[in-house]
Amino acid sequence: MEEQRPQPRYRRVVLKLSGEALAGEKGYGIDPLVVDSIARQIHEVSDLGVQVAVVVGGGNIWRGLSGSSQGMDRATADYMGMLATVINALALMDALEKHGMSVRVQTAIEMKEVAEPYIRRRAIAHLEKGRVVIFAAGTGNPYFSTDTTAALRAAEIEADVMLKATKEAGVYDRDPRVYPDARKLDEIRYLDVLKANLKVMDATATSLCMDNEIPIVVFDMNVYGNIRKVIMGEPIGTFVRGDRHD
Ligand code: UDP
Repeated sequence: MEEQRPQPRYRRVVLKLSGEALAGEKGYGIDPLVVDSIARQIHEVSDLGVQVAVVVGGGNIWRGLSGSSQGMDRATADYMGMLATVINALALMDALEKHGMSVRVQTAIEMKEVAEPYIRRRAIAHLEKGRVVIFAAGTGNPYFSTDTTAALRAAEIEADVMLKATKEAGVYDRDPRVYPDARKLDEIRYLDVLKANLKVMDATATSLCMDNEIPIVVFDMNVYGNIRKVIMGEPIGTFVRGDRHD
């Protein structure tokens, strides 16, 4: 008899990659080797039949808040940040295509010479055909973040989970860079993240996930293969949840 292969835990995921995740060790710009490694990992999980949507950040190029703290108009600085995410989206698209994948970039700010506009139903149709969809230009609105974008898109496309790639192993009870005895949590509830002001995501993103009961897995992106492990349901990172996900 043929051996049963383990099945992925999730059918449709939103993977949130910060700009920093694409920058590698330098912390700014785009490191093609790092982007290639991420593309390979996305390819692996897509091969398992998992539908993958990606939301990319832009912090490796520009952050609205830093612009405004230097005296720039906040909305203008935020639009610059949203454009930065498009640059990252194109880099990831290119890397994924090099791996033979079919990819669509959809932007929340229309720029149709470069990418498709964001159309929810079309995004879902792409995913159902096995294409990777990269959501760029954030929500299209200043004063928001790409974490909030990921939560919003996850709700819109009815994703099973939001995968939040970070540089840490997960969520800690205290800042591990300040307290060496900080403990990584295997699981935590949205409300406790909000109450303790834990640095998972901004509060808007966390409460959007809470209201729509989208679980979040916070995990370390720097370990190759972690995306696959999370999707297969291996207990890595931190599972952020409400009361429903028992
Ligand atoms: N941004 C925005 N609206 C959005 C998403 C992003 O104005 O809906 C801007 C904001 O200025 C932000 C920048 O784009 O600082 C880059 O996004 P983010 O900081 O979330 O990127 P990450 O930290 O994930 O690299």
